[in-house]
Amino acid sequence: MARKIPYWHPQVEHFDLLPKLSGNEFNGVGEPVPRRPRQIFWLKRTAGHPFGRLQDAVVDRYNGVPALYEVFANADRGPRPRSVPEAIRNVQPAEEWARQVKEFALANEADLVGIARRDSAWFYEGYEADLPFVIVFALAMDYEMLTQQPSTFENPIAQVEVANQYNRGARVVARTADWLLERGYRARMHAGPWVHGLALVPAAIAAGMGELGKHGSLINRALGSSFRLAAVETDMPLAVDTPDRFGADEFCARCQVCTDACPPGAIHNDKGMVRGVQKWWVDFDKCIPYFNETFGCAICLAVCPWSKPGRAPSLAEKWSIRAAAKSENDGEATHADLGKRA
Ligand code: SF4
Ligand code: SF4
Repeated sequence: MARKIPYWHPQVEHFDLLPKLSGNEFNGVGEPVPRRPRQIFWLKRTAGHPFGRLQDAVVDRYNGVPALYEVFANADRGPRPRSVPEAIRNVQPAEEWARQVKEFALANEADLVGIARRDSAWFYEGYEADLPFVIVFALAMDYEMLTQQPSTFENPIAQVEVANQYNRGARVVARTADWLLERGYRARMHAGPWVHGLALVPAAIAAGMGELGKHGSLINRALGSSFRLAAVETDMPLAVDTPDRFGADEFCARCQVCTDACPPGAIHNDKGMVRGVQKWWVDFDKCIPYFNETFGCAICLAVCPWSKPGRAPSLAEKWSIRAAAKSENDGEATHADLGKRA
């Protein structure tokens, strides 16, 4: 894929699906007061939602591509966990539970696992958060497949890979939920792309899975941006991880690879105020028509220098020194602050 992609000329039918309401306004761009996010995409119920018609059209387009229909419709998304915990709760220290659940998930298809104490600010308006911990999983994508962008009807390979990893995430989530229930604890599953109430990116940041990049997705010190997320909420007492600062934010401030590569020009070079937090943000109104047209664009993830296999660890080693110096100068941000920056 060429690094610089020519500016894209939108197809009218994709713009016609957008409501009059701006997605950026809906997302809280420019709002100085913190509030919970509103779910805008990958809704379980689309009827009556301002962006529901758009999502229905996206799903119809996906289903019209045989390879994509096949990978979602006939996927193995794991066992159905038993819905009622029947066992008497096993009790042991939170550190030991955390060690065991991570070991289990890593042995059951997860590539990375992190744990955070739940923050209700991560949940979309209208969803209740009543379980105290969130276990977050990362599923690495095949870089060669991911870079075959943009997806077309004839060549949807990148999107097939995205779907494959969402399905793998669903299996990890289902097996881990089953493991938690078996030990007498509650579990609520968030397997993408329909994540049911939980915004995965801020939870993943708090769980030590990476930093928010200029492209609006995570950058991880091992996988770059070439991965997908899934999560389970639980009341099992667990030792939590801390946010991982390794210089991705400072790197993004000097890089504009994704900004240059984004065909509709949706990625800004500067941070903006979103629901009371100054952070990187993506222009939803520009991104989504292209995203729809290309069956779920992920060009920004594919071109990110951190995503290239083997590159992220060496970049993290180099840039973590700058991040440490900046933290000292700025005064260390609290862990909660870092999670909310997503
Ligand atoms: S391409 Fe560059 S600016 Fe964009 S997210 Fe990756 S590192 Fe940050
Ligand atoms: S996913 Fe959206 S922001 Fe990223 S490159 Fe595609 S259009 Fe741009």
